[in-house]
Amino acid sequence: MLNQFQKSLLQSNSPLTRSRPEILQINTGKLCNLTCVHCHVNAGPARKEIMANDTINRIIAWFEKTDIPTLDLTGGTPEMTPGFRHLIDAVSSFDQPREVMTRLNATIINEPGYEWIPEYHAQHRITIIASMPCYSPDNVNEQRGDGVFDSSITAFQKLNELGYGKDPRLPMHFVYNPVGASLPPEQKELEADYKREMQKHFGIVFNELYCITNMPIARFKSYLKRNDQLDEYMQLLRDSFNPATVDGLMCRNTINTSWTGEVFDCDFNQMLKLSLENPSDGTPLMVWDINPETYHQLPIRTASHCFGCTAGSGSSCGGSLE
Ligand code: SF4
Ligand code: SF4
Repeated sequence: MLNQFQKSLLQSNSPLTRSRPEILQINTGKLCNLTCVHCHVNAGPARKEIMANDTINRIIAWFEKTDIPTLDLTGGTPEMTPGFRHLIDAVSSFDQPREVMTRLNATIINEPGYEWIPEYHAQHRITIIASMPCYSPDNVNEQRGDGVFDSSITAFQKLNELGYGKDPRLPMHFVYNPVGASLPPEQKELEADYKREMQKHFGIVFNELYCITNMPIARFKSYLKRNDQLDEYMQLLRDSFNPATVDGLMCRNTINTSWTGEVFDCDFNQMLKLSLENPSDGTPLMVWDINPETYHQLPIRTASHCFGCTAGSGSSCGGSLE
């Protein structure tokens, strides 16, 4: 039986199928120094799920044999995974160069023991994608915790000093997501506001702003429930279904893995434990068992949260879709 999202795809004649894998997105674990309200991972300082070095080594060996051009690291805070630098060093030594990006929680740069991050990332030309839900302190601190705004500003200034956001080889993008139960505004307009305000007040420059819709899962779902807004938000997402966004959905060209190496269509499906099965024996599919040539034949698993990706201008790890 079709779920609501599949019905909407069918009614709009917008089939959701995979294309060739272009991004390997590794969620290295749930450890983070923050506990943001909108976090779809339920990440935090007490979480123990962290990718082991053995798992990292198996992924490196498999990834090197593929021609997937991009490695996208997420978490938690990927830099808190002990094997983070081992992974990057190995990928940087591949014969076939790959673009590496990290979804950086910038405040980690100011924590003791993590002072290495800015120089290391610059040396390895790692693209930085950093959460910055507002250019005013109150909204950021409300969503991400007290002091997060000031800490993020200090971190971005350090990154700017090294050339991030200025040197074309060191891109730094910011991620915006709404503070409450609404859809993000138009991306290009908000980007212009961000650029003006960040430059004027803090002297900070960056490349692009990605607007991302809050997913009605995990911690954000609890927030909606607490505020009696879950039904209203789900209705907003369904009513805003935009078939023009389907072509750009990240599940089409991304392989997402958990800290154990298990494969999912996206990080949201990972948090909902909507795992993929190995076609040969029905066991959970592990990333090192994937054949990139035939991976596109596996169907994408969907559920009602998928309306979060197709609402309005659409939403993906790279921001709006149209
Ligand atoms: S949203 Fe990012 S920075 Fe905030 S708790 Fe989750 S993983 Fe950490
Ligand atoms: S939630 Fe995941 S599977 Fe669903 S549409 Fe979005 S990217 Fe695709």
